[in-house]
Amino acid sequence: MTPLFRPRLLNPPFGDPALYVGLQGEGSALLFDLGDISRTPARLLLKISDVFISHTHIDHFVGIDHLLRLNLARNRVLRLYGPPGIIANMAGRLRGYTWNLTDTYPFMVDVHEIGARSLRVRRFACSEKFRPGPEQRLPFNGTVVDHPNYRVLTQRLDHNGIASLAFRLEEHCHININKDALNRLGLPKGPWLQTLKKNIREGRPGSTVIAVPPADGRPPRPFSLEELARELVHISRGETVAYVSDSGSTPGNEKKIKKLAAGVDRFFCEAAFLERDCARAARSGHFTARQAGLLARACNVKKLTVFHFSPRYERHPEDPAAEASEAFRIG
Ligand SMILES: [Zn+2]
Ligand SMILES: [Zn+2]
Repeated sequence: MTPLFRPRLLNPPFGDPALYVGLQGEGSALLFDLGDISRTPARLLLKISDVFISHTHIDHFVGIDHLLRLNLARNRVLRLYGPPGIIANMAGRLRGYTWNLTDTYPFMVDVHEIGARSLRVRRFACSEKFRPGPEQRLPFNGTVVDHPNYRVLTQRLDHNGIASLAFRLEEHCHININKDALNRLGLPKGPWLQTLKKNIREGRPGSTVIAVPPADGRPPRPFSLEELARELVHISRGETVAYVSDSGSTPGNEKKIKKLAAGVDRFFCEAAFLERDCARAARSGHFTARQAGLLARACNVKKLTVFHFSPRYERHPEDPAAEASEAFRIG
């Protein structure tokens, strides 16, 4: 099975948070939190279409300048989603520069501010010197993005008095192509398989015609969607990824995380402190590694990855990842 999501942290666990999720077959990527991303190759960063910000503490947002600079001369729209205040944060960031030579650049950023019941959207266009455009208000019920292949859901956690958004990324369903059947029918691999998957996901009628190019370079042969789906396709449960950043072990936060991350395949959870520093973790709105491990266990996730370790442990023999892993396995 070829996974749709390719999640990976861009920095080592002591570095800034930034979870990159490449989308197989889409040529694009999603980013959860935007810490320092300067060590990541531009070819990867330029694939990012949507950025989800938990909160705007500097270690989660400082990479915005780097991303803007890379995209500035390109004809594209970058979408940014974040907690209350993100529009003002973005406006302030953009006001910090002079934009007198970029009037012909088509680049834009659409900033989505996630409130309790509504989504406020404002467009910042380079050609308008990044002055915010008129506000659009959309209803909001917890789903931030609903793409034909996947959706992104959020829960608003508490991080010492400010909102910190946690996210769940889920594929609607996973469409597997039976390679043996493909060989048996003498059909080649190629971009037409993406067209087939897209038609199935969009619920197109079985009579829809799909042109399949034969391997020997002759003209494409028409097949019905129904025929191809019957012979080649197996549909299984979609993949799921949850991302929990700075927040901490409070009953309110844990209740929301258990709902958001229930049964996910990959769980990325902040774990700034070791359990012996749990008082410090509680004071600063962070998890200990043990708390993250127990939470992952309670959520029944398949795989846990902890990140965002405090620099105080960098030259320390005790490993937060080992503490989290032990709590996850043994409780
Ligand atoms: Zn942080
Ligand atoms: Zn923080």
